[in-house]
Amino acid sequence: MQDLLRQYELWIVAAVAALALLSGLAGYLLHLNRKLKDSEQKLKLITAQLEKSNTKLQRLSTVDGLTRISNRRLFDETLAREWARAVRSETPIAVIMVDIDHFKAHNDKYGHQAGDECLKRVAAILDKIVHRATDLVARYGGEEFAVILPDVDLKGASAVAERMRVAVENLKLPHCHSVTGHDVTISLGVAAVVPAKDSTSHELVAAADQALYRAKAVGRNQVIEA
Ligand code: GH3
Ligand code: MG
Ligand code: MG
Repeated sequence: MQDLLRQYELWIVAAVAALALLSGLAGYLLHLNRKLKDSEQKLKLITAQLEKSNTKLQRLSTVDGLTRISNRRLFDETLAREWARAVRSETPIAVIMVDIDHFKAHNDKYGHQAGDECLKRVAAILDKIVHRATDLVARYGGEEFAVILPDVDLKGASAVAERMRVAVENLKLPHCHSVTGHDVTISLGVAAVVPAKDSTSHELVAAADQALYRAKAVGRNQVIEA
């Protein structure tokens, strides 16, 4: 036995050394594998967090900071999309432009903070009036709001506008320099069209804006159709 051991001593030492090396290598590989899995897990977590932040950021970029309703950017994007859809399907699309009456006098009398509160209340009630998933109420700028009603004709849009006018009046937000002499009111211009292929949505917005201008000229607190 001893002779045998002596004869193969070198081989045995080499085999033991090779075994030790292999098991060391296997251990190292296992360690690397565990580290890789840890990194994968962390990467998944970071990716999920990034996706969440991205969704939040996208939502924030379409919401008006003060009133929390849709902003002008979403209005423009939605109008372009719905306009193209209306052209394709040869269906009507309506726009309502809304403006708070004598709002400068409101700010002068009650202060800017009360003005901001008033804007929030008006925005919230306008937003509550529309129901369809494709309808959109946005803050257009300052004390102006704009509404997109896809697949709605002039008669339908005027009815929505009148509901908005009454809803704001019923809020009974104090305004001693208003048309009524006591409450905040709004004026609204309505326009609707079945868009032709070569027409643009700017014409529809301009028509609603002109109707709003006329509503102001003829006494405010009313709905005028283009
Ligand atoms: P009209 O009935 O003709 O619309 O009169 P108006 O006073 O509402 O119209 P005008 O355009 O002269 O004034 C708009 C005012 O709205 C100016 C500003 O004092 C007020 N305003 C615009 N944006 C804001 C805002 O974000 N917060 C507050 N508090 N006021 C604003
Ligand atoms: Mg205005
Ligand atoms: Mg105004």
